[in-house]
Amino acid sequence: MTPSPPDPRIRRGCPGADRTPLAGPESIRPALFLDRDGVINLDRHYVHRVEDFEWVPGVHRAVEMAKAAGMWVVVVTNQSGIERGFYTEPEYLALTRWLVARLPVDLVVHCPHLTGCPARKPGVGMLEAAAEILPIRREGSLLIGDKATDLQAAAAFGIPGHLFGPDSGPLDDFLQGLIPQP
Ligand SMILES: [Mg+2]
Ligand SMILES: [Zn+2]
Repeated sequence: MTPSPPDPRIRRGCPGADRTPLAGPESIRPALFLDRDGVINLDRHYVHRVEDFEWVPGVHRAVEMAKAAGMWVVVVTNQSGIERGFYTEPEYLALTRWLVARLPVDLVVHCPHLTGCPARKPGVGMLEAAAEILPIRREGSLLIGDKATDLQAAAAFGIPGHLFGPDSGPLDDFLQGLIPQP
């Protein structure tokens, strides 16, 4: 199988990875950062195949709401399943191409590492990488995650973090009130 060309919206957040900007400074705006597993798709532990990927209710409308509010939408996802050997980075990238074809996010940043990488949440590296790739205004930005480590990364970046869980209801309802309404 011929590998697909790289999608510029899909990046590693680790040191040394490609930081080529996707937009110029005139496009600066706040960002909605979303964790992936448990926020975009149900957390079934190391999801890496389309058949195991089940959308969290309301995620598509939540992304639409953020875009209507003039925000970037950025996914920041720890993917230590790669270093753990549960799946390969090409498998992760194939699933992510499938994802971005169905959910209009602006950027998906991942870290494949298990230890020793500043990008892995609770580290702030993936958010800082995103802010090099897209012109992000921290004021008005926020992160939604399902783990304390997500919120730690948000705090380190200087933005609010909100804990989302299976009992939080649909993601779009959860987001209502957290972002400016058009
Ligand atoms: Mg998660
Ligand atoms: Zn990393």
